[in-house]
Amino acid sequence: MNIIDETLEHLKLSNCNTDGTFFQAVKEVLESISPLIESDKRYQENSIVKRLVVPDRQIQFQVSWLDDNNQIQVNNGYRVQFNNALGPYKGGLRFHPSVNSGILKFLGFEQILKNSLTGLSMGGAKGGSDFDPKGKSDAEVMKFCRSFMMELQKYIGDRTDVPAGDIGVGAREIGYLFGTYKNITSKYDGVLTGKPFFFGGSLMRPEATGYGVVYFAKEMLEIEHKKPLLGQVCTVSGSGNVAIYTIEKLRDLGAIPVTCSDSKGFIYDKRGINVELLKEIKFQKRASLELYLETYKSAEYVKVEDYAEDSHGVWNIPCYAAFPCATQNELSLNDAKNLIANGVEIVTEGANMPTTPEATLLFQKEGVVFAPAKAANAGGVAVSGFEMSQNASMQRWTFEEVDLKLQETMRQISKKVALTAKDYGVERNYVDGANIVGFKKVADAMIAEGI
Ligand code: NDP
Repeated sequence: MNIIDETLEHLKLSNCNTDGTFFQAVKEVLESISPLIESDKRYQENSIVKRLVVPDRQIQFQVSWLDDNNQIQVNNGYRVQFNNALGPYKGGLRFHPSVNSGILKFLGFEQILKNSLTGLSMGGAKGGSDFDPKGKSDAEVMKFCRSFMMELQKYIGDRTDVPAGDIGVGAREIGYLFGTYKNITSKYDGVLTGKPFFFGGSLMRPEATGYGVVYFAKEMLEIEHKKPLLGQVCTVSGSGNVAIYTIEKLRDLGAIPVTCSDSKGFIYDKRGINVELLKEIKFQKRASLELYLETYKSAEYVKVEDYAEDSHGVWNIPCYAAFPCATQNELSLNDAKNLIANGVEIVTEGANMPTTPEATLLFQKEGVVFAPAKAANAGGVAVSGFEMSQNASMQRWTFEEVDLKLQETMRQISKKVALTAKDYGVERNYVDGANIVGFKKVADAMIAEGI
């Protein structure tokens, strides 16, 4: 048995069922890097693969907080500090009822290679809670965040571990978390990124992931000599931070993003989604997408219960470019078949691992350009890295400066990924290209450090 199979077998035996997404993520990476492991014996001699798949540490803690009825509520809190070979642990916090240690391990593992791809000095981590901010008052969210940070602050620091946002953690939550950290430690340092601008956040951090996704798609289309996005119909899933700014940048570049979705249904607006209205519904009112119809009666709204079996409604809409921006495994084999039948030319992942392995293989087999999340959505963490630089140097960069640096970062990542895929004989396989580039840098640092 070779080292890759041995490691996967060991993981299967040692992890409980909740770790399915973690196993899926590791399997994809190890299969991609196997030519490198075979050709460079240093990686086997230093047991890099076995060491990379085990987090440095996993912290789990109780978060008790008082709701508006003065009842005690209890949630689980987590931080998975996966690997800091390249820099301080870095990765978002997710607040969603589906959060468990397996999902956070998958996200933390992906984060190691994503952060490596940015070229910045950041290790990989992820954290969060099964707390659901949806339907909670601001006071409840604040009390939860205070209690969560009371424990988390013991393990983080601007040179140790720097969390950020993710699903369910936006500017409001980061504000409460940072306020609590400051209260406890009396330190005003860059311990979190995604902070509101007035207390040390970077301009363009909210937009960074979505804008970066579109910049990456633009670069890939150029590399592949395909038609640019101008005038093309695009489908986007999700209606959170990543989806909204993906839609906004698509519109800015003259594309026509016609869909968005949430956990209850999706909107199809042929004329193009009105992003200002979407921001109002999701960021200000925190309401259901159905509200979109009050302003645009001609748009269509389809509820989840009306989706065909094994289909996520939004992927039935014909498009040139698809952008899954909601959550993991939201684009199935059946969805991929529908997209291909309707003529899709490029799929760019905005969410983390939104495409199932079977769907990814089909896209690649059918010649659809497939841009994997760890490269395409790395713009968010790249601008988080820029926020850390600004905090450390007490400087503020302009929106235009950050935007130019983000565009350059996405260009560099796309070039490295495409070139590496070619060098390793898997031209046009950007999944393998991204995994090899990301892995190599981390692995070389781990060898240099010793154990
Ligand atoms: P948000 O919380 O802002 O938005 C998430 C969106 O996805 C919402 O529209 C939500 O709908 C929908 N959603 C969540 N879970 C499900 C589900 N199980 N089924 C259907 N829809 C669902 O999160 P973000 O936009 O920040 O994150 C989206 C994705 O992008 C995640 O995979 C995240 O890890 C990834 N990502 C985020 C980055 C960032 O900077 N924020 C950086 C890199 C990656 P509803 O409101 O109904 O729950």
